[in-house]
Amino acid sequence: MTATRVLVLNSGSSSVKYQLLDMRDSSRLAVGLVERIGEETSRLKHTPLATGGGPRETTGPIADHEAALKAVAEELTKDGLGLDSPELAAIGHRVVHGGKSFTEPTVIDDTVLAEIERLIPVAPLHNPANLTGIRTARALRPDLPQVAVFDTAFHTTMPESAARYAIDVKTADEHRIRRYGFHGTSHAYVSRETARLLGRAPEDVNVIVLHLGNGASASAVQGGRCVDTSMGLTPLEGLVMGTRSGDMDPAVIFHLMRVGGMSTDEIDTLLNKKSGLIGLCGDNDMREIRRRVEDGDEQAQLAFDIYIHRLKKYIGAYYAVLGRVDAIAFTAGVGENAAPVREAAVAGLEALGLAVDGDLNAVRSGEPRLISPEGARVAVAVVPTDEELEIANQTYALVGNGNA
Ligand code: AMP
Repeated sequence: MTATRVLVLNSGSSSVKYQLLDMRDSSRLAVGLVERIGEETSRLKHTPLATGGGPRETTGPIADHEAALKAVAEELTKDGLGLDSPELAAIGHRVVHGGKSFTEPTVIDDTVLAEIERLIPVAPLHNPANLTGIRTARALRPDLPQVAVFDTAFHTTMPESAARYAIDVKTADEHRIRRYGFHGTSHAYVSRETARLLGRAPEDVNVIVLHLGNGASASAVQGGRCVDTSMGLTPLEGLVMGTRSGDMDPAVIFHLMRVGGMSTDEIDTLLNKKSGLIGLCGDNDMREIRRRVEDGDEQAQLAFDIYIHRLKKYIGAYYAVLGRVDAIAFTAGVGENAAPVREAAVAGLEALGLAVDGDLNAVRSGEPRLISPEGARVAVAVVPTDEELEIANQTYALVGNGNA
């Protein structure tokens, strides 16, 4: 029997998201989520798409990631999709931080695990959870190839001029301070899909990708290679996000410490969890913000304007970085769904060849599509992202059906 299935695992600090795909046709066999791991009210939601069954939900204490993965494995077994199946080719893990060392998806062995662990100081929130997921999955199926797909990998092609901060080189190197970028799996997938939408090879196309979700980042992709991106050492830099400030004078932090009397942890929480849209207007969901704007709410309007102003600055900056731009691609929750954001982001940029067609922009669809007027110099596209499919594809490409 040929092994054609890939399980994709995205392990967060208190959650595990998963998808089981059949790589023959990229179809989803099952998808699910375990939330609130370690609490009394953990919840597992499992949808067995292969059998056409509806979602099954269980609530109750799930102590740790090991218990969570075992519960997922049990659910999959009920649908005849168990982890012991010979049809399972590999498990692909999302790993947030791969530092400078991981430029490609990588088959996991003890050395790779040790390197991911070594990167914990630069990704203290994410890499430990990713590691726990990998260790648990290895314990369940020690014989199965497991692949790490890094959020940072796509950005490792950035030139030093874009990747380095202008700070003392010795200090930067000692603490591995540089711009790594994140959401790389999405930027890779969307830039390639945009080229496909244009009917051109990725090597021939320059794209600005705007990944606008609750977290948000922009990237400049030249002939399929990332040359700049808006997130940095951590996902805090760059665009205004749902709860993160994005770019800011770093001296704000000293000021909050010296004058505001705030601790490092308090400032960390302020900038990562209580800033961005939620800090500006109390809401981080673009749907709610737009509703408020329609109702004439000035605070929501200002939050929207600040969000758009930053976005526009990055479009301009990456236009300059690339020199020639073939397409701008909007993706993720806001980018795929919020027509007013797309319209406002390119408004007034006709001189750069940028415009959206009102009717095309208003269409709601899950398909990649162009929203620029016919014959526009620069294509403006909406390209739904699919990070799980990209992780599955990269995993499968690496291990093939070697487990068959
Ligand atoms: P993501 O992180 O990619 O899942 O995106 C989540 C965000 O997408 C939410 O916080 C909303 O702000 C936004 N979003 C989702 N659906 C819509 C919609 N229909 N219109 C506007 N924004 C949306």
